[in-house]
Amino acid sequence: MPICGDDFPLTPKQAELMAIARRLGSEKFVPRAAELDREAKFPFANYADLRDANLLGLCVPESHGGRGADYATYAMVSAEIGRYCGATALTFNMHVCTTLWSGLLSEDLEMSAEQRAEHRLRQAIHFDRVVKDGAIYAQPFSEGGAAAAGAAPFGTTAVKVDGGWQVSGKKIFASLSDAADYFGVLCTEKKTDAQLSRRDTLYLAVPRNAKGVRVEGPWDPLGMRATVSRTLIFEDVFVPDDAALMPQGLYFQAASRWPHMFMTLAPTYMGIAQAAYDFTVAYLRGEIAGTGPVKRRQFATKQIAVAEMFVKLEQTRNMFLRAISDAKVDTSKSTRLRAYATQYTIMENAQDIARLAIRTCGGQSMLKSLPLERLYRDARCGSLMLPWTAELCMDRIGREALYEAGETDD
Ligand SMILES: Cc1cc2nc3c(=O)[nH]c(=O)nc-3n(C[C@H](O)[C@H](O)[C@H](O)COP(=O)(O)OP(=O)(O)OC[C@H]3O[C@@H](n4cnc5c(N)ncnc54)[C@H](O)[C@@H]3O)c2cc1C
Repeated sequence: MPICGDDFPLTPKQAELMAIARRLGSEKFVPRAAELDREAKFPFANYADLRDANLLGLCVPESHGGRGADYATYAMVSAEIGRYCGATALTFNMHVCTTLWSGLLSEDLEMSAEQRAEHRLRQAIHFDRVVKDGAIYAQPFSEGGAAAAGAAPFGTTAVKVDGGWQVSGKKIFASLSDAADYFGVLCTEKKTDAQLSRRDTLYLAVPRNAKGVRVEGPWDPLGMRATVSRTLIFEDVFVPDDAALMPQGLYFQAASRWPHMFMTLAPTYMGIAQAAYDFTVAYLRGEIAGTGPVKRRQFATKQIAVAEMFVKLEQTRNMFLRAISDAKVDTSKSTRLRAYATQYTIMENAQDIARLAIRTCGGQSMLKSLPLERLYRDARCGSLMLPWTAELCMDRIGREALYEAGETDD
């Protein structure tokens, strides 16, 4: 059954793409997941499968050889992958959303005819790399300060030089650090005699093999271990003008007008929530190999717990399906607040469903030979993801519900 349920009306394209994701996930990703998690190794083989299926080009327009998926289709495919390997889904988000932001989302932004024409030429370079060369893009914006939370300019800077930009700075938690061919770096244009400003944010694709790029530090976290999200250092790295993934100044416009661009991590955790529920049902039915033949499902407390998980899952899924179909430019206030509430619900409910799954299935279910303990650890990471952490979603809902833009108490 697809992540959206067997009675949700899918377009033929959505049904096809989700069937591919489900086949790859269940046949290829599941058998690899435990070892990748244990060793904290990047899922290179999964990416080879995604590449062969042209899913790296999921959000690249069909006119450029991609699959031409829209936002909702991306979200459903991503959630489907998340059921089988959370780390693959989370990193797939970073890659696909680079093409989504630079592609479909940029179409909605205001730019001059000259900017649009130049952007078209640059888009073609990035799309060709993905579709023809199988290139992988990462999306490092976290720096360990207020920038990734959207509260300050990025400390990673770019100085305009002849024919391009010189990039310097540091990014933490860069998923795909061992795998990406290009790092889609958010940085601030450093202008002479001017303070750094969020309005001057640039979005540049820095090749991993460019002079001055270094990947460093260990990676040994609680969950999402196969994302291999190490630290990136950029020391006076030169990139040409056509490294721009969006025209100058356009990222700020996107962040202000297209809120759902920050909700794209949530589908991974929707998938994890579904996987924890599915495991619980299969376990209690005695269908998980090597765990039988103890009978447990006849106990009323187990049935109530499964019912509680199902209710939470359906609440989460319904918000997910509504919010992904809402995504567009210049949304209304209700739509924006619903997006925050959806992100919050998915991230918090995924870990709650995983918690209930372990409590309900019992001790044997948390052995490392079974996937549930990995789902539990992976689920824990969702609400920490900037810029829409669970806390920041609550901050935004509270503030934006009580204050209209520009309102103060003075
Ligand atoms: C598995 C995993 C993969 C990741 N992959 C990526 C990736 O590919 N790219 C990427 O860019 N990031 C990635 N991240 C990073 C993630 O988004 C966070 O930035 C990261 O967890 C850093 O945490 P922190 O401790 O610095 O954040 P926090 O301390 O939570 O936040 C950093 C800063 O944000 C501000 N802030 C936080 N909460 C609030 C609040 N409630 N109110 C006001 N300000 C607040 C503060 O200034 C704070 O110092 C990943 C994280 C994980 C766990």
